[in-house]
Amino acid sequence: MRQLIWFRTDLRVHDNTALAAAMQAGPTIALFLLSPQQWLEHDDAACKVDFWLRNLKELQQRLAELNVPLLIRTAAHWRDAPKVLADVCRDQTIGCVQVNEEYGIHETRRDRAVRQHLALQGVEWRSHLDQLLFQPGSVLTRSGTYFQVFSQFRKVCYQHLHTAMPGLVPTPKAQAPLDLASDAIPKALPEFLSPSDNLRQLWPAGEAHVRQRLDQFADEALLYYQEQRDFPARPGTSRLSPYLAAGVVSPRQCLHAALQGNRGEFDSGNPGAITWINELLWREFYKHILVGYPRVSRHRAFRLETEALPWRQAPSELAAWQQGRTGIPIVDAAMRQLLATGWMHNRLRMVVAMFLSKNLMIDWREGERFFMRHLIDGDLAANNGGWQWSASTGTDAAPYFRIFNPISQSQKFDPDGRFIRTWVPELAELNKRDIHDPAALGGLFGMANYPRPIVDLARSRERVLQAFKSLPQTEVAHA
Ligand code: FAD
Repeated sequence: MRQLIWFRTDLRVHDNTALAAAMQAGPTIALFLLSPQQWLEHDDAACKVDFWLRNLKELQQRLAELNVPLLIRTAAHWRDAPKVLADVCRDQTIGCVQVNEEYGIHETRRDRAVRQHLALQGVEWRSHLDQLLFQPGSVLTRSGTYFQVFSQFRKVCYQHLHTAMPGLVPTPKAQAPLDLASDAIPKALPEFLSPSDNLRQLWPAGEAHVRQRLDQFADEALLYYQEQRDFPARPGTSRLSPYLAAGVVSPRQCLHAALQGNRGEFDSGNPGAITWINELLWREFYKHILVGYPRVSRHRAFRLETEALPWRQAPSELAAWQQGRTGIPIVDAAMRQLLATGWMHNRLRMVVAMFLSKNLMIDWREGERFFMRHLIDGDLAANNGGWQWSASTGTDAAPYFRIFNPISQSQKFDPDGRFIRTWVPELAELNKRDIHDPAALGGLFGMANYPRPIVDLARSRERVLQAFKSLPQTEVAHA
């Protein structure tokens, strides 16, 4: 029976569960849907869409080596997907569609609609766990609910890893050639501006590149990850997030690379490997939250009582934050890194998110949306989780009274001011003591090219503490 592998955020041939299952079952054709309308509605960044297209091109070549043709169709909105899939299945006499599961309300709804539509035509549907190490619903509290506290979630993940380590899926062998040509992959879509060549060069496409990146990280940086990961000027983290988000690499491949560097251990041995695997489990945690508490993908706060916070409408402050001209150097450097590279260091994501939601008291959803529109690794679960953590509205979030002071964070994690100098060249002349807080110099520093802080850090801290204290304390609803 002819098989269709419908690629989504799993753009690789190695360790791909659905691809392997399809090719095992019969002659296989591949499909990818271009969905610009849907992507716009999801605030997917132009650089991320460009990254998908570049990776598709690479994927097409790898698939050609397996004699699997890749068809490209447009379903501008996912509501069009059932018809487009049905047409492809009819034209190509497909008997079964195989996919790797995606999470999120719209993804789930789309897949249900496609499956039901195909059933009318007698086409089978098989979906596989692939994007995650553990099936959502398989890591639960004793009373059968989804965990809200990461450390407890991780404990159960460890138990699962001890009993059944997720293995790598063998790469399929080439099939006999089919009499069907692959479609051309567009270089760009009119709805999305092409990113700069610089940005593209930072994030080369393809599995060969990601393998090299992963191996290099595992060989050179993993051992030092725990000490280096918080310093944005150092190459201390893997920078694999865009590849994980697009599925050019799988979490299993990452896990196994880390295990290899740690004699097969995940909860003991090298602290770098343990900490990195911990981050992979945070990724897992937020996806499970998305499934267990679907309100978070409907722009709702996880802690519903925090929806009563009096967020400020402050468009000019929001614009200053977005453009990297708040007058707080580490915040501006981070926002400019995001705009130029499509990526931001994790420590700084927390710093700028707290600054927006706490010091400026602007609704975290504004920040979440802006991040999504600019991140090459934009991922609903991790982005929402990170924002709600920073704004103290989410599961296992930062307690509302623990507010990062961006200047202390800057002194601690960019002690020489190297990161600031890279992204805020106006301040390059300042020494490593003054660069974190040029406003403290009073009139001594010619601030012609750099703004004064748009907010008083101490007073704004008090303002938001008061707002949190005034919230009625209610139980977190399990919906
Ligand atoms: P590494 O430190 O090498 O970690 C390895 C992998 O683990 C990452 O690639 C990522 O897939 C995962 N990971 C690491 N930290 C986290 C975390 N805190 N939560 C979930 N997964 C994690 N990550 C995204 O992939 N997409 C997002 O849209 C996103 N938005 C964020 C927004 C905010 C406000 C915050 C605080 C964090 C966000 N993160 C997001 C998490 C984290 O910042 C990035 O995953 C990380 O910076 C990516 O860099 P890296 O690949 O070098 O990570």
